[in-house]
Amino acid sequence: MAILITGGAGYIGSHTAVELMKTKHEIIILDNLSNSNRESLERVKELGGRDLKFYEADIRSRQSLDLVFAENNIEAVIHFAALKAVGESHEKPLDYYENNIGGTVILLQAMKAAGCKKIVFSSSATVYGSENTSPLKENMPLGRATNPYGTTKMYVEQILQDLYASDEDWSISLLRYFNPVGAHKSGRIGEAPSGVPNNLMPYIAQVAVGKLDFLRVYGNDYPTDDGTGVRDYIHVVDLAAGHVSALEKVLAGPGCDIYNLGTGKGSSVLEVVAAFEKASGRAIPYKFFDRRPGDVAENFADPGKANDELGWRAVRGLEEMCEDSWRWQSQNQDGY
Ligand code: NAD
Ligand code: UDP
Repeated sequence: MAILITGGAGYIGSHTAVELMKTKHEIIILDNLSNSNRESLERVKELGGRDLKFYEADIRSRQSLDLVFAENNIEAVIHFAALKAVGESHEKPLDYYENNIGGTVILLQAMKAAGCKKIVFSSSATVYGSENTSPLKENMPLGRATNPYGTTKMYVEQILQDLYASDEDWSISLLRYFNPVGAHKSGRIGEAPSGVPNNLMPYIAQVAVGKLDFLRVYGNDYPTDDGTGVRDYIHVVDLAAGHVSALEKVLAGPGCDIYNLGTGKGSSVLEVVAAFEKASGRAIPYKFFDRRPGDVAENFADPGKANDELGWRAVRGLEEMCEDSWRWQSQNQDGY
């Protein structure tokens, strides 16, 4: 039996594919390469030590999906494929709704038609909004989305829950990621943002390597210890392992469960800067700027449910996240 990974050529999908290569599952990746590169798949094969099947296709194409399901015996889907840039989602909301919501509905229809009712979905801690206080727990009410990207994650969570309510044969895992950072220890795969990065860690990495002059720290007047924003950074390899655990749960039997994938520990922007300087041996110049609209002061997980029910735990700390991110950045200055 095979596992289909949509968006498997991307940042989190490629790391998850490498972790899945350690299991007995056959791996099939479907990606339209809109935000990724075929080279990542070559490196996944190299790291995993075995082959995988790749379809360059779009989740919005029912015809392509039907072909993939017809040609393979797919037992479950890990669904990463989505557009993910918060700023861009304000400029192109229709693209985000079509790709992330429309694409997911088409995928679910194709799965249902093929009799495949097991799915692990990439959600985000963004669904907690700014109304909830950390540590964030799965049973808290959802917040208000501050951008169309966040809205797509909330809708897809609701769609999956409605689907389960309509047919309890489905087996669904909604994974709410906190802040994925870092890279595979080999330095062969990592995050390759196109253009200037929006997120903190890849931005710092590009300052360290000399591609960007300095870091803009958005806000130093938050009610946190040093005044800068606090987030729950999680090593992408820990996150990938969380998907393998969630997949095993989904394969074990029907249900619809939500899990936070985070460490439970928050780090401030200045703590990340200091850790990265230590890991890279490079100075990271920074300047304080106004708060970024939509940002919250602090955001970290209560990962207890995933720890207890999936038997999974994030084990890599901030130092290792920075070391691995630096290795990837310094060895692949222009990405793949
Ligand atoms: P990524 O952009 O690196 O990977 C997404 C992949 O999906 C890309 O390879 C892209 O080419 C592919 N894709 C996009 N639209 C597609 C379509 N219509 N058909 C086929 N393939 C398509 O992003 P990532 O960081 O690996 O994120 C993976 C998932 O995790 C996304 O759903 C994202 O929203 C979610 N997520 C990411 C973060 C984060 O900080 N990276 C945080 C929370 C949730
Ligand atoms: N941040 C920053 N400068 C940047 C990018 C991010 O100061 O160039 C801060 C941001 O305000 C937040 C933290 O770093 O407090 C993490 O931001 P990121 O965009 O990586 O993740 P998210 O906001 O989605 O949690």
